[in-house]
Amino acid sequence: MHIVTEWIEVRGAREHNLQAVDAAVPKRVLTAVTGVSGSGKSSLVFDTIAVEARRQLNETLPAFVRGFLPALSRPAVDAVDHLPAVITVDQRRLRGGARSTVGTITDIAPVLRLLFSRAGRPSVPNPDAFSFNMPAGMCPACAGLGETTVVDLDVFLDRTRSLNGGALRSDVFAVGSRNWRILVDSGRFDPDRPVDDYTDTELHDLLYADDGMVAMRFQGQSYNASFEGAVTKFRRLYVDQDPENRSSRTRRLVDAYTTTAPCPDCGGTRLSPLALSSRVAGRTIAELSALAVTELLAVLDEIADPSIAPLLTALRGRLTDLVDIGLGYLSLDRRTASLSGGEAQRVKLVRQLASSLNDLLYVFDEPSIGMHPRDVSRMTDLLRALRDKGNSVLVVEHDRDVIAAADHVIDLGPGAGAAGGRVGYAGDVAGLRASDTLTGRFLDAPIRLRPDAAVRRPTGQLRVAAARAHNLTGFDVSFPTGVLTVLTGVAGSGKSSLSQVLRAQHPDVVAVDQSAPGANRRSTVATYTGALDPVRKAFARANGVEAALFSANSAGACPECAGLGVIEQDLAYLDTVTMTCPACHGRRFTDDVSRYRLRGLSIGDVLEATVAEAAAFFAADRRLAGILGALATVGLDYLRLGQPLTTLSGGESQRLKLAGHLAEPGGVYVLDEPTTGLHMSDVQRLLGALDRLIDGHGATVIVIEHNLDLVAHADWVIDLGPEAGAGGGRLVYTGTPSGLVVAQGSHTGEFLRRAVE
Ligand code: ADP
Ligand code: ADP
Ligand code: ZN
Ligand code: ZN
Repeated sequence: MHIVTEWIEVRGAREHNLQAVDAAVPKRVLTAVTGVSGSGKSSLVFDTIAVEARRQLNETLPAFVRGFLPALSRPAVDAVDHLPAVITVDQRRLRGGARSTVGTITDIAPVLRLLFSRAGRPSVPNPDAFSFNMPAGMCPACAGLGETTVVDLDVFLDRTRSLNGGALRSDVFAVGSRNWRILVDSGRFDPDRPVDDYTDTELHDLLYADDGMVAMRFQGQSYNASFEGAVTKFRRLYVDQDPENRSSRTRRLVDAYTTTAPCPDCGGTRLSPLALSSRVAGRTIAELSALAVTELLAVLDEIADPSIAPLLTALRGRLTDLVDIGLGYLSLDRRTASLSGGEAQRVKLVRQLASSLNDLLYVFDEPSIGMHPRDVSRMTDLLRALRDKGNSVLVVEHDRDVIAAADHVIDLGPGAGAAGGRVGYAGDVAGLRASDTLTGRFLDAPIRLRPDAAVRRPTGQLRVAAARAHNLTGFDVSFPTGVLTVLTGVAGSGKSSLSQVLRAQHPDVVAVDQSAPGANRRSTVATYTGALDPVRKAFARANGVEAALFSANSAGACPECAGLGVIEQDLAYLDTVTMTCPACHGRRFTDDVSRYRLRGLSIGDVLEATVAEAAAFFAADRRLAGILGALATVGLDYLRLGQPLTTLSGGESQRLKLAGHLAEPGGVYVLDEPTTGLHMSDVQRLLGALDRLIDGHGATVIVIEHNLDLVAHADWVIDLGPEAGAGGGRLVYTGTPSGLVVAQGSHTGEFLRRAVE
């Protein structure tokens, strides 16, 4: 039990829907903030506590330094006291370009380099000589990028044509151009012969030669030009230009006619020959970095050199953290840009575990996302480890197991939007269970398995042959149509890879992902769903004016904010700052338009209303009722009609897109973790929406999920694994949920069995 002596105290928090919330977050414990989606968890944790912590920290900096930071406006809160410095560990993808890898971002790579500088055979004493980000270690040919840009001959050259017929496709060598004339007048080639019929020497000269002079005529004049093969010239003129200063024409040409290939000098390892000459346990640092972390640990176990024992211990500790958090299938050389949001968040957590700072406040956004139930308990162990180093840990979570592991819970609610924004419970988990909150009620609710008798009968099959991408082993598998199929397996087992193969083999499959719905910054919930149109018509009818007056691109909309009521300012490299439009003060339209009313409300008022409020207000409008009803079905009735799509979370974006499909018949949909951001009670609504899509519209729904409520509700389960990476990629189980719970060797089956018992 953790004795709490200090608290972070929040008084009068009013961001978004928060109703003057008073809350106390105990220091140096693990606190879960819970509540239905839209209840105000993010508003409290991220928009109030984290923003205020950062603002207070900025205030302590000299004015000169503050000048370079975004002016953080004070959140709408009376006071937040006793705040430590905050570190936000969110699901934003890790950028950092080609030089950022799992090894570099976790600071494991420097330890490995130190190991090689001490124990490598032969030894290269300078650790920097093993770094592809340092001049001493990088491959000189590719400057440590591991790949080079090569002219893509399949695109650059049409071998069925002659020089006169336009064999060189880029306009740099257009028939009749000066560059083309040099090649033709060189006399080295028959300009009417297809390139396919060239000898090897001719082909080499055409592309790569760099010798001799050509006496040529061009535009009525005689010149002497030096001869350069087409690829050699194209490289010199365009590819070799500094990428930072390329003109748009250069960028277009390079994009169109080149591709990347592993650097031939270093074989893609990014390292210098010297670095690659040194070995530990018989392997180069590049070979060790390419191993899955679990395999790397096994190799390190073979080393028995007492002089480096402390280094090995440090290295093993860091690698074990990665394994414990369910990322043992990644390799240290994996680029961070290719990690999923959930993987990125866990990698960031591992980096924090290695830090020796304490008395910080860590805030996490649903750290369980993307994790199989098997790995969640290991992740909560790591959150506790962060706490035990003397930090306060605050997580926004929906996962039963994470909530149950918390020392303290703050539950917001009772509902979403205007119906939420209050603290319904604060205390330990036992008290939460006994409390009259939706979270307490659902925490121990049994998971109901769909019995075989209730399983839908498929209308057909989508066959996938020889599935082979990333770690998939080439199996055949069928996805039944007209039913709900859940694709399961531990993180890294191959679920996304299989869904990519399915989409490649059946292009009519629609992926409903968590990316922002294609839209510009003027798009709102109302414009995207088509709700704005009937709203405008209702206003026009009531006032005897044109409907177009109420449109965001009419003269009636505020010209400053295009009818959004807010303005987003992008400060280069820093966060985007949103502020109320100074021209219309958030009213979105000109005063003239704002004067038109519909049963007492202005158009701006309606756009401020939530979907639920609008549904009540427009109950008599059939078309609006359909659109708003679909939003309610996917659990989005707390969104405001005029909310810009740029403010939606990934999960909200995905459900918004799903709502759009509720009106269409048929269709095959693949959804990746649609329960992201959903409270247990909202998951039940999502299940209802999926059922409606299948039963009402004849759709086929395939869901990649870890949530056991969803797995239990499926008609068909495809379980991949059994492990991640090279230990996975195989078909472990296909069949009904009731068969899964008795299946041998399935982690999903084992956890589902425990949950239904
Ligand atoms: P939760 O994290 O519990 O899902 P949020 O704090 O994100 O809830 O949202 C609480 C309420 O505030 C919701 O009604 C939501 O629509 C609204 N809201 C969230 N972000 C914004 C924003 N940037 N602007 C206006 N309203 C917002
Ligand atoms: P899941 O969706 O089950 O989490 P994935 O299909 O994403 O699993 O990954 C399966 C395996 O393929 C893992 O070992 C993963 O590291 C690897 N992998 C996935 N995407 C890439 C990529 N872009 N580059 C290299 N390896 C990848
Ligand atoms: Zn190289
Ligand atoms: Zn405005």
